[in-house]
Amino acid sequence: MSAEEQRVAALDAADPLAGFRDRFAIADDALAYLDGNSLGRLPRATPARLAQVVEQEWGERLIRSWGEGWMELPRRVGDAIGELLGAAPGQVVVADSTTVCLHKLAAAALAARPDRDEIVTDVDNFPTDRYVLEGLARRRGATIRWLDADPSPEQVAAAVGPRTALVSLSHVAYRSGRILELDAITRIAHAAGALTLWDLSHSGGSVPVGLDAAAVDLAVGCTYKYLNGGPGAPAYLYVARDLQDRLRQPIWGWIGRRDPFSMEPGYEPADGIAAYLSGTPPVLGIAAVEVGVRLVAEAGIESIRAKGIALTELALELADRWLAPHGVAVGSPRDAAQRGAHLALEHPDGERLCERLAQRGVIVDFRAPTTLRLGLSPLTTRFADVLRGVAVLRDLMEEST
Ligand SMILES: *Cc1c(COP(=O)(O)O)cnc(C)c1O
Repeated sequence: MSAEEQRVAALDAADPLAGFRDRFAIADDALAYLDGNSLGRLPRATPARLAQVVEQEWGERLIRSWGEGWMELPRRVGDAIGELLGAAPGQVVVADSTTVCLHKLAAAALAARPDRDEIVTDVDNFPTDRYVLEGLARRRGATIRWLDADPSPEQVAAAVGPRTALVSLSHVAYRSGRILELDAITRIAHAAGALTLWDLSHSGGSVPVGLDAAAVDLAVGCTYKYLNGGPGAPAYLYVARDLQDRLRQPIWGWIGRRDPFSMEPGYEPADGIAAYLSGTPPVLGIAAVEVGVRLVAEAGIESIRAKGIALTELALELADRWLAPHGVAVGSPRDAAQRGAHLALEHPDGERLCERLAQRGVIVDFRAPTTLRLGLSPLTTRFADVLRGVAVLRDLMEEST
């Protein structure tokens, strides 16, 4: 064993979360899967839970299952996610996709500020976030104030004003992994009279968020990344309690109506967070999300955060030693406190390197034009996987020089 191999073996042996890897299906133990920030691994309990929902709840209980727990799923699993995000119960539901949740909440925010016509976001916000905001701006005759990527509170402060209706940003940036200053930015937006909408897709299940403590208004996030809910799993949305009855989301459906089964004419929103639902809950999808969320909760978000820092610190150190000499630059913050659970590496040949890594059993992802992301999902990534990933990348760079 090399000195590095001994070192990572010791780190893995001392890792209090190491046992969680066994709770996931691992088809190929040698694969360095550094992409759990894009599609989290399959929890071993998920297939059995889905079989139970399909065979018993659907196959045997049939429509009775709606009254035996299905109807409560969006709120029950929403509350479990809320706990990870620092939100008291009754403020989070699971529904729709992140894109649709974002649309619903951004539209609700704009409607709540009818005398304002500006939306603040940044040029490198996740594409779907930018497109949703552009579409809404077009329809409402609003203007987007574009900030530079990964904006600081000062940059937000310089952009907001009496015309700002909404500040919409990602808490952990999907490209750089930078953690934006959610507390300070939320305060700045509020001081200008604007509402805040945070995308937590790269935060939920990887870093603590503190939604209630920061007095965030609105948030959305994805469940198939660090929450391991499975491909295309439904998203979650958060509406702060004091706003729930003051805002109105645009997709009026029967499931968000007061007393849906009254079948009455005219839409009247349900009380509280239920008004942010629209149609029938995707039961199979939410059942899978619940398994992933329970695993994250069992491990504890503070422990997950600590391991996320340790994994990215190791990746950063190895990248500096082994990759920087080959022209690979680190695109993530060097300060662990400002970095989520993935590390961005920048190289003009990133796309080809990503493919060649995959051929050697190292799965990372590429984000055009130059970013390789090493996603180090803490529950399933070993320190040895980090070493292997960076070492194989170093070998590829050496071969090509
Ligand atoms: C992954 C991700 C999404 C995904 O949106 P979908 O509607 O599920 O496709 C949205 N926003 C951010 C910031 C993401 O990272």
